[in-house]
Amino acid sequence: MFGPAGRRHTRQVRIGKVAVGGDAPVVVQSMTNTDTADVAATTRQVAELWRAGSELVRVTVNNPESAAAVPRIVDKLAMMGVEVPIIGDFHYNGHQLLAAEPACAEVLAKYRINPGNVGFGKKKDTQFAQLIEFAIRYDKPVRIGANWGSLDQALAAQLMDENHLRAEPWDAARVLREALIRSALDSAERAVELGLPRARIVLSAKVSGVQELIAVYRDLSARSDFALHLGLTEAGIGSKGIVASSAALGVLLQEGIGDTIRISLTPEPGASRTQEVIVAQELLQTMGLRAFTPMVTACPGCGRTTSIFFQELAQTVQEHVRARMPEWKISHPGAETLTLAVMGCVVNGPGESRHANIGISLPGTGEAPAAPVFVDGEKTVTLRGEGIVREFLGIIDDYVARKFGRGAQAG
Ligand code: SF4
Repeated sequence: MFGPAGRRHTRQVRIGKVAVGGDAPVVVQSMTNTDTADVAATTRQVAELWRAGSELVRVTVNNPESAAAVPRIVDKLAMMGVEVPIIGDFHYNGHQLLAAEPACAEVLAKYRINPGNVGFGKKKDTQFAQLIEFAIRYDKPVRIGANWGSLDQALAAQLMDENHLRAEPWDAARVLREALIRSALDSAERAVELGLPRARIVLSAKVSGVQELIAVYRDLSARSDFALHLGLTEAGIGSKGIVASSAALGVLLQEGIGDTIRISLTPEPGASRTQEVIVAQELLQTMGLRAFTPMVTACPGCGRTTSIFFQELAQTVQEHVRARMPEWKISHPGAETLTLAVMGCVVNGPGESRHANIGISLPGTGEAPAAPVFVDGEKTVTLRGEGIVREFLGIIDDYVARKFGRGAQAG
């Protein structure tokens, strides 16, 4: 049978109103790239990410100014009706910032702690314990997020030494992978010893290579039942970041591994931060794990489509349904499962259009200037002339109004 494997069992963690792990659907999250101390810019970007569909948003909390800004950001978001849990990302000085800004500690929905960056030498254990004590005091979950780029060097050195004593030593890459996994798992066990319930811990161990990430998470999943946050760290810019993230996360999700995902894209200059949310949603939806917005199937075009009309129509249809989805989510739930096809000519056009809920087959070069539309497999109308785009969007809107949500007609 095709389709993803069942999800591996993990403990469910509540992050604000959002459930992560257990039988909850895989959750999409993102992270701002504004200066958190800039309340207006950060509020704006969090709202933008939430509108795009991010179910959790992380902000960096790196200095007293950003810690002081967090409660103001959360207030402003509430006034705007933006109900998204905000996660604080702490490195080095989290224990000091949470002590100095109790309001920040209170309003954050989760703390992210990097065990490799909590502190160094003797201070490391004390500072880690302080962070966990804040999580216990304020009743917050924690993500213990190890990262290849900030690996606990003392632990790595210890495992290298132990490796020399093995009868058959592992290669260096495997030892470093083990250090990353142990850093996350040992820190989680330490947090439990300090009194943090297991159902308040999410784990991650991010690396930047596809095969390494798959190996690390398979191991992490086999060795614990903590909820897992998946992400390929420093995935890169543009198509490389999208492809690498999708390749790594796709394999793991197919194996039932991963309870929440983030696509760590480097935005192209001037590009919207929301792209990482859209890619995460599209990954989950194309794999059949969740549905967020109607999906448009479009052929790639070829020598039979000499005008750009077909490409423009495919893009307009995708943008139209994406723009309507926030409203449809409320008024026409289920519309996100709608499938659409925009095809360039008669070769595959009618066939593919029949497989979608609504499909249109445009005329290729040399074909009669007519575009048959198929609804639920049946040809219903042939569009011609200037009004094709408007009329096709109208057919989509009518279909959604008839088939989904309140007042939907059966059949
Ligand atoms: S459906 Fe037609 S236009 Fe599209 S790729 Fe196939 S042959 Fe080319």
